[in-house]
Amino acid sequence: MKIIDLRSDTVTRPTPGMIAAMSAAPVGDDVWGDDPTVNRLQAMTAEITGKEAALFFPSGTQSNLAGLMSHCERGDEYIVGQMAHTFRWEGGGAAVLGSIQPQPLEQEADGTIPLAKIAAAVKPFGPGLGTHFARTKLLALENTWGGRVLPQSYVLEAAALARSKGLNVHLDGARAFNAAVASETTIAEILAPFDSASLCISKGLGAPVGALLVGDRAFIERAHRYRKMLGGGMRQSGYVAAACIYALENNVERLHDDHANAATLAAGLGEIAEITVLAQATNVVFLNILEAHAKPLEDFVKARGMLMQGVYAARLVTHLDVSREDVNHFVAAVKDYFAGAAK
Ligand SMILES: *Cc1c(COP(=O)(O)O)cnc(C)c1O
Repeated sequence: MKIIDLRSDTVTRPTPGMIAAMSAAPVGDDVWGDDPTVNRLQAMTAEITGKEAALFFPSGTQSNLAGLMSHCERGDEYIVGQMAHTFRWEGGGAAVLGSIQPQPLEQEADGTIPLAKIAAAVKPFGPGLGTHFARTKLLALENTWGGRVLPQSYVLEAAALARSKGLNVHLDGARAFNAAVASETTIAEILAPFDSASLCISKGLGAPVGALLVGDRAFIERAHRYRKMLGGGMRQSGYVAAACIYALENNVERLHDDHANAATLAAGLGEIAEITVLAQATNVVFLNILEAHAKPLEDFVKARGMLMQGVYAARLVTHLDVSREDVNHFVAAVKDYFAGAAK
């Protein structure tokens, strides 16, 4: 039985076409710079993102961390959203491994950090008062945010503000391709305001493993050394890079389907009285399920081959392995549950 897994877009499995591309990949030792497939992926990513260089990583967490470390030295500070992935969901790596002080700031519901808060958080630096503070070096934003695309006008303003204060700007763009597709624009346009960005290929794009860090050549050289330090030097990683090339060539435009499926999912679940659809954007749907129903509903759909997260955070995510029929099947099962539970 096919499992319909709506817990995350990280659960996708390589398709036969992707596996064929992986098997056929020419490989070498990438720590020696010898892997032609890794080199091709990096060149191709630099080109489509409009940046000078790109570096392949095993995960977005490591890519973000190497990026932060390449911008900030020990005792420097980065400004970041209170709920941002780099601050909240990456084990505190910037502080622990990078000796970088995070300056988290409360975000608005749309993921933006108010400009006045950013301006006020930048510490003075230099002789006199400035000796007291960590050096503020970087602003980090995240796009998409809970599936929502950050308003590009905001991104441009925030980046201009950061630059006026002497800061660089990094994007945690784990799902930046979703942002580009949803905005009918290019990934280069989404990344243009940023000095650097981290991109996940192992989420909606469907590769089993892989993330890329992009930026200028000197930045990527520093990141290369940090990747080594963080244990991210890989050998015949061309086999995995081939999956990422396949994903970039075949699975970007189809993100439209995931977004449409998420809208169908939200509309279907919205018809159920016991569920409130809080938000839907790109491939993510947030729900409010009456607490008494969350766990029983999870169990009910699980017994029918469907996986959802209802208890911790009711968030459903569509992806490559979820079709329109799967969405309809899932909505029907949830309706069945509530029809039974009402009695
Ligand atoms: C998934 C994700 C990452 C990186 O996660 P990995 O699992 O390490 O690849 C970073 N930021 C955001 C917003 C993410 O969703």
